[in-house]
Amino acid sequence: MKTSDQYKEQLYQMKPNVYINGEQVARDDSRLAGAINVLCKTFDCVDDPEFKELILVKSHLTKKTINRFTHIHQSVDDLLKKQDLTREICHFTGGCIFRCMGVDALNALSVITARAEMMTERPYNQRFLKLLQDWQDNDTVGCCAQTDPKGDRSLRPHQQADPDLYLRVVEHKEDGIVVRGAKHHITAASVAEEIIVTPTRFLTSEEDEYAVAFAIPADWEGVYLVTRAESKRQSEFDPYPAGYFGDVETTVVFDDTFIPNERVFLGGYEGEHQFGGWLALLFALYHRHSYTGCKPSSTDIILGYSALVSEYNGIEEKKHVQSKLADLISVAELVYASGIAAAYKATKDECGTMIPDPMFCNVGRKHAGKNYYHELDTLADLSGGLPATLPFEKDFFDEEKIGPLLQKYIKRKADVPAEDVYKLYRSISDALCSSIGGVFAVAGVHGGGSPVMEDIAILKQYDVDARKKIAKYLSGIKDT
Ligand SMILES: Cc1cc2nc3c(=O)[nH]c(=O)nc-3n(C[C@H](O)[C@H](O)[C@H](O)COP(=O)(O)OP(=O)(O)OC[C@H]3O[C@@H](n4cnc5c(N)ncnc54)[C@H](O)[C@@H]3O)c2cc1C
Repeated sequence: MKTSDQYKEQLYQMKPNVYINGEQVARDDSRLAGAINVLCKTFDCVDDPEFKELILVKSHLTKKTINRFTHIHQSVDDLLKKQDLTREICHFTGGCIFRCMGVDALNALSVITARAEMMTERPYNQRFLKLLQDWQDNDTVGCCAQTDPKGDRSLRPHQQADPDLYLRVVEHKEDGIVVRGAKHHITAASVAEEIIVTPTRFLTSEEDEYAVAFAIPADWEGVYLVTRAESKRQSEFDPYPAGYFGDVETTVVFDDTFIPNERVFLGGYEGEHQFGGWLALLFALYHRHSYTGCKPSSTDIILGYSALVSEYNGIEEKKHVQSKLADLISVAELVYASGIAAAYKATKDECGTMIPDPMFCNVGRKHAGKNYYHELDTLADLSGGLPATLPFEKDFFDEEKIGPLLQKYIKRKADVPAEDVYKLYRSISDALCSSIGGVFAVAGVHGGGSPVMEDIAILKQYDVDARKKIAKYLSGIKDT
């Protein structure tokens, strides 16, 4: 299995196509380190007895032992283990683990390329299976670039004033395609080894050119990664686990980029729009299932901070605190339960891949998204104002005059050391008052698709008419 050192070594050798705040940088730039540390955890934990059972799995393709983050789900158990792995591993990084996008895109491609190959006779599935084997053998870190700029939201891709506001094929060549466009908000693109590109939405027959899917190394010619990097508070006095991990988000630009045939899984040819639409929806579905693992993990973290700060402040047993903690537990466990239900109600596609139940994935994701700011509200309520006004570390840890004074006046319950109070508030401040905390909050709402997308998916599948019939029956209204 690949080690985190090997991952970093390969990453640092990639061409410097990352741009941060006016600079073109290599991947050993210190601003990317926090995100790289997150990904290293996905390599390190294969040797960890706590994770081994969850992260190691036999490839259905090669029968070799591989990392679950490159696996195609073959059973209910696979879906359950992916969900549990995601929930558990996110506790260690204090946020997103970044590898779900890659594995979610692989699973969606496994289904759609099989259908597309059958119906178009282009060897999309054969190409995909070759890529899959490479990814499994190399334990490749991938991201998924789905979200287009989208321009005027009221217009379809082919109606935009600038047709490039959705990524599209601009030229078909004998040996590949040329693509133009961009993808916004792509998590971890500048610390990934490969980028998988998929369409963003359902497409119509005028929109075949937008039905494009491919995978390329992240430093491919003609690809520009414009990146913003966030990290938690860096502590010179007292490095703490959560402070070690960070986040990177990237606008990925494809400037007339050539993609060779062997890496193309949908080429924007006539009639391919339907596959593009299915792929967009299926990636979103897998991703929403992943959210039933990572979002309960975020709630676990918020719940832990809320309970501990209440304990330190001497209010943990108060009724209103207990009620708020119960609310947080209900959100975490209901979202988790929806992922379990989605796994048990999953269907096996003809190609062998398990597809989680769409209703349960969507209601779970919706419940998580709807509650995220409410969870932060609870934490802010129970913490008081200190997360926003916490003195800087140099003052708190000062050994002369100011440090001892601050250590005296930060005290809560007598038996809790001042230093522990400070450390907890530092973490809560990261969650509530830092730029990375803000990024996670917006991700809690929009990651995996805006809330309205979940509403659309939920309403499309639910038999509302059947419920109207119940209402009529109970009310004595004739059903005509
Ligand atoms: C931190 C973070 C990480 C992310 N990571 C990834 C990633 O790794 N890969 C990836 O592909 N994407 C990623 N995303 C993108 C995410 O999926 C999108 O943000 C989401 O789909 C919303 O798209 P948008 O940002 O363009 O917002 P918009 O679509 O513009 O939404 C804004 C509002 O407009 C509404 N709206 C939009 N279109 C219409 C319409 N036609 N009719 C009516 N209302 C409409 C929406 O419902 C919403 O209320 C990430 C997002 C965040 C915040």
